[in-house]
Amino acid sequence: MNANYIAGEWMGANGSVENINPSDCSDMIGEYAQASTEQTSIAVHAASQALGAWRETGPQARADMLERIGAELAARREELGTLLSREEGKTLAEGIGEVARAAAIFKFYAGEVFRIRGERMDSVRPGLAVEVTREPVGVIGIITPWNFPMAIPAWKIAPALAYGNCVIFKPAELVPGSAWALAEIISRAGLPAGVFNLVMGKGSVVGQAMLENPDVAAISFTGSEKVGRHVIATATARMAKVQVEMGGKNPLVVLDDAELDAAVDCALQGAFHSTGQRCTASSRLIVERGIHSRFVSRLVQRTQALRVGHALHAQTQIGPVVDASQLGQDLAYIQIGKDAGARLLCGGERLPLRHDGFYLQPALFADVVPEMRIAREEIFGPVACVLVADSYEHALALANDTPYGLSSGICTQSLKHATDFKRRAQAGMVMVNTPTAGVDYHVPFGGRKGSSYGSREQGSHAAEFFTTVKTSYTAS
Ligand code: NAP
Ligand code: MG
Repeated sequence: MNANYIAGEWMGANGSVENINPSDCSDMIGEYAQASTEQTSIAVHAASQALGAWRETGPQARADMLERIGAELAARREELGTLLSREEGKTLAEGIGEVARAAAIFKFYAGEVFRIRGERMDSVRPGLAVEVTREPVGVIGIITPWNFPMAIPAWKIAPALAYGNCVIFKPAELVPGSAWALAEIISRAGLPAGVFNLVMGKGSVVGQAMLENPDVAAISFTGSEKVGRHVIATATARMAKVQVEMGGKNPLVVLDDAELDAAVDCALQGAFHSTGQRCTASSRLIVERGIHSRFVSRLVQRTQALRVGHALHAQTQIGPVVDASQLGQDLAYIQIGKDAGARLLCGGERLPLRHDGFYLQPALFADVVPEMRIAREEIFGPVACVLVADSYEHALALANDTPYGLSSGICTQSLKHATDFKRRAQAGMVMVNTPTAGVDYHVPFGGRKGSSYGSREQGSHAAEFFTTVKTSYTAS
């Protein structure tokens, strides 16, 4: 059994969960320990105790440790990418790419350690100097979802450590394998005991214990809107700092003047790759009337040609849905769409393949109107809907007509409309002639409205969340 890593030791547990391959349920990847609430408290206590030692480590040693973690992830990207794809179900290319990204994130923050700056100013009062410095926040609770089992933990853990904090990491229950492998690498990087802790287990037990522990100064969470709202309410009630990334219902606008093949590529990539299980997936395709029939017929052709299959098979383009419950949700939404009068153009059926997995043929709906639930609620599967727009202004209004605001895309050859869209799209990220999903790690990531709460993740902007500002006055 793979144990939890608490206070610098591998700690056993009473219970464990089996990690199952969604491409083939007969493939059991391993058993992973479930931390108790008591073990979670031990981890938080150890992290609090380690804060002083971690701060004294100094930038060179801290950067070296982060660099070592990044280097090992990069060197083992094929092996760990295979594990990731095996437990989560994204294709091998996507799994390896994700581990490479996690490596790059650790290396980026190794450099960031040297760029933690302060300011010094003269006071408005003669004889005084003012300094503004950034300090670590303290113990950070990190709670992550299953759909990016390496990249999301990396983009929270690396900055938390770089800016001098200690970490309690609780991964999603469905993907303990990647989390454990990452923790094992971190455990050999030379960090003082207690600086980094892995506590696997149920969100309602281990996650909840982290939310409630007064020694956890800040919570960085990514996951569903329902749990996100609970995290915000619980953390703010005890005045903990909180950063929450939740769902999306991301629009991709296709204007009449768009380059057809490029727009279809953006839609196909954005809607269905990673089995549509991305918070930035383009689940609403808002297509101007003049290009609508050409766009839809080409997209249907390309969607039907997608090869759905075992995540580890070389020819697979779309892996399985992550588990039975998510598949049930996807199928339920497909029924909801049909019942509401939307026209299912292709897909939407569970595929019986030779392996026992959760395979769903990507589904595309037309005749969708904005009031339908499939146009408003996040499905989080390979299901996309097409809405018709009468003009650019109409398309923009439809794009913004959502409780979410993560990513928003447009395909057009008009500089005027692209420029206007970048200015008026109500989203944290705007994409012009490129899929709504697919982001860099050195620039801010996050959304508006119901998608996000708190400050942005990634790049140097992560300092907002992972540090607190101090203003010091010195009389000369
Ligand atoms: P989820 O069900 O909300 O779970 C997220 C994490 O929260 C898991 O580790 C979960 O543990 C934990 N959790 C559950 N209940 C908790 C509680 N009471 N207290 C503390 N933690 C608790 O989300 P998911 O199903 O893993 O992921 C899919 C969702 O993530 C989608 O909605 C997607 O849009 C969103 N997402 C957003 C972004 C973004 O950046 N905006 C990126 C990726 C994914 P368990 O695993 O034990 O349930
Ligand atoms: Mg969930």
